[in-house]
Amino acid sequence: MTAATAAAPRVLVVEDEESLLFTLAHNLKREGYTVVTASRGDDGLRLAREQKPDLILLDVMLPGIDGIQVCRMLRRDSDVPIIMLTALGGESDRVAGLDTGADDYMPKPFGMRELMARVRALLRRSGARAQPDTGPTVVISGDLQVDRERREVVRGGKVLRMKPKEFELLLFFLQHPGRVFSREQILDEVWGYDFYGGPRTVDVHIRWLRQKVEDDPANPVRIRTIRGSGYLFEG
Ligand code: CA
Repeated sequence: MTAATAAAPRVLVVEDEESLLFTLAHNLKREGYTVVTASRGDDGLRLAREQKPDLILLDVMLPGIDGIQVCRMLRRDSDVPIIMLTALGGESDRVAGLDTGADDYMPKPFGMRELMARVRALLRRSGARAQPDTGPTVVISGDLQVDRERREVVRGGKVLRMKPKEFELLLFFLQHPGRVFSREQILDEVWGYDFYGGPRTVDVHIRWLRQKVEDDPANPVRIRTIRGSGYLFEG
C-alpha cells in the first residue's frame, strides 16, 4: 500500500469540552486525518462501531457513559488504538493503573505537537495506513530541501538548525507558495493550540527564518512582507 493511494486515516475524538474538541479536530485535520467527533460517551461508542475509526482520542469524564466504560466496551470486540485524555487530580493515575485497555494516555493540559506525535506513532504501530496523505516527504524549493519525516532542513548541502516552530512555519510556507497569509492566519495554521503569544510571535519567527533561508535577510526575496496584509513565500 502506498501513501499516495491510501485514504486518510480516520480519527474519532470523544470530548465534551467544546473548545478542546474544536482544537483537536482542527489540528488532526491539519495533519491530514479524517475527523469524526462526539461530545458524549454513548455517542462516541456508537460512532466507534459505525465508523470504524483507525484511532480514538477518548476523554475520561464524559456525559452519557464515561471514557473508561467506553474503552472497556470497545475492547470486547475491537483492538482500535485508543488514547485516553485525562484531567489532572488523579485521573491519569486511575487510567494508568486500571486495566482500561487503552494504548496510551495524555494528561491535560497537553501540547498538540506531542499528542500528534503519539497519534502518528500509534497508527504506525497498529499497521493502519502508515502515513496521512499530506504530500511528499521531502519538499524542495530552490536550494532548500526540507524532510518532513526527519524534520530536517538542508540548504546548499548544509543542515540548518531550526526551532520546532521555525520548521513548521517554513514547511507551511513551502506548501503554500505564492499566497499571502496574515499573521493571524499563520498563527492559526502553524501554532494552533500551542499558541501563547501575539502576532509578534510570527514576526519574530520570520526574522529568525530569514536569517537562515535568505542570502540577505535585510532584503528578503523568499519570505516577503506584504505591507498591511502579512507574508508571502515566493517558493
Ligand atoms: Ca470531560
